[in-house]
Amino acid sequence: MNQYDLVVVGSGPAGRRGAIQAAKLGKKVLVVEQGKRVGGVSVHTGTIPSKTLRETALNLTGWRERGFYGRAYRVKQEISADDLRRRLLITLDHEVEVLEHQFARNRVHNVRGKASFLDPQRLEIIKDDGERIEVTATSILLAVGTKPFRPDYIPFDHKAILDSDELLEITDLPRSMVVIGAGVIGIEYATIFSALDTAVTVIDPKSTMLDFIDKEIVEDFTYQLRDRNMKLMLGQKADKVEKLPDGKCSVTLDNGRVINCEMVLFAAGRMGATDTLNLAAAGLEADSRGRLSVNPETFQTTVPNIYAAGDVVGFPSLASTSMEQGRIAARVAVGVIAKEPPKYFPYGIYAVPEISTCGLTEEEVKERGIPYECGIARFRETSRGHIMGLDSGLLKMIFSLKTRRLLGVHIVGEGATELVHIGQAVLNLKGTVEYFVENTFNYPTLAEAYKIAGLDASNRMGEPK
Ligand SMILES: Cc1cc2nc3c(=O)[nH]c(=O)nc-3n(C[C@H](O)[C@H](O)[C@H](O)COP(=O)(O)OP(=O)(O)OC[C@H]3O[C@@H](n4cnc5c(N)ncnc54)[C@H](O)[C@@H]3O)c2cc1C
Repeated sequence: MNQYDLVVVGSGPAGRRGAIQAAKLGKKVLVVEQGKRVGGVSVHTGTIPSKTLRETALNLTGWRERGFYGRAYRVKQEISADDLRRRLLITLDHEVEVLEHQFARNRVHNVRGKASFLDPQRLEIIKDDGERIEVTATSILLAVGTKPFRPDYIPFDHKAILDSDELLEITDLPRSMVVIGAGVIGIEYATIFSALDTAVTVIDPKSTMLDFIDKEIVEDFTYQLRDRNMKLMLGQKADKVEKLPDGKCSVTLDNGRVINCEMVLFAAGRMGATDTLNLAAAGLEADSRGRLSVNPETFQTTVPNIYAAGDVVGFPSLASTSMEQGRIAARVAVGVIAKEPPKYFPYGIYAVPEISTCGLTEEEVKERGIPYECGIARFRETSRGHIMGLDSGLLKMIFSLKTRRLLGVHIVGEGATELVHIGQAVLNLKGTVEYFVENTFNYPTLAEAYKIAGLDASNRMGEPK
């Protein structure tokens, strides 16, 4: 009875997609999830909660209307942590329900408990009530994701000094906050809280941030953050974090500066959740950050019947890419051909403002020695931008001078994470600047920025030969 074609450990995006794919191919599948409900980090502490928080913050503050009504405009004067949580709980319930229904519909078995290896084909599962079960699987997909990195020198107290999982449980909105770590998670939360009128300081030992994003986009983004008084203390390290007797926190930097604040968010990295899997029993080993290495095309680990997908295999660590990885891994695991995904996938940073990007950055194009030209459009040049009262927002496209093909699209501003898909389609279909020049776009839309940027690039590039 406890024999499965595929056992999936973890029910986040990679596990969920992998399990459903194998079930649709007629396989007997079990998902093991140690959390209280299915969905993984993505549903409970990562993607969905942070994006719901962002949406609630933007709606309640009236952020999107401030271009017209001024910076003092608010939809709700006093916003509480309860206001934020209410929408979060409704969204999460809905996500979990959809997922449970998907599992039931596709006859995917699932069990709540912690899985660890007995050998490469056998897992032990300890359920919440202490019951122990053993399952055997032809193939195993490890989709265990990550957990926040919590170094010993940070005195986490679950109240004022928090990691990004705990941030979702706060009962009061802080008036001031220090965010340690200028990575994607740190920057998303820093800008969301800044939109809620929290005075935010971001600290990172690196002197630059979001290095994988086109530099011009990061410069525009940084300007916008500074313009609204967010403090970016880059190239400076937080040496000590303390809780003061009055309940406040203090952060001491390596240059001796001290910053006092009501809350500290430590968001400097995550670790692969492999420490409790007893990997040695399966002949596997994780790296120093708990990550597993896999064949990037098949997601097979060094043990042939064991696959790993999602954040546990490292970059890009996105829910979107994890789903695809899980699906491919499951297909290979049950012996069905899996096509390689298209070369370029979008990266979305749901900060305020949003950033989204697909393809090569200008820095990468230069590094590869490709002759290129750029086209730029500002959202305030579009009629839709005027209607929306936008005074910021930038879309940049990079084209090859030789082939006229689109090489990269980079956007900062309202709707960036949706708009990027137009560029992604053209990029993966190997389209040229002519696509943007010759096609008609709905008017008035922000997508018209593609037309404007296409014309800008084409004017500089001259007529096609
Ligand atoms: C704050 C934050 C914001 C994010 N925002 C975005 C975003 O906007 N867009 C985006 O694409 N991505 C975003 N991400 C990343 C996204 O959440 C992850 O890429 C995604 O959740 C990874 O999916 P996964 O399937 O690898 O595992 P996870 O979602 O991490 O799920 C792994 C599951 O495995 C379970 N598990 C672990 N070990 C065991 C065990 N031994 N036994 C049983 N179960 C186990 C865990 O309980 C967990 O439920 C964000 C992440 C964070 C933290």
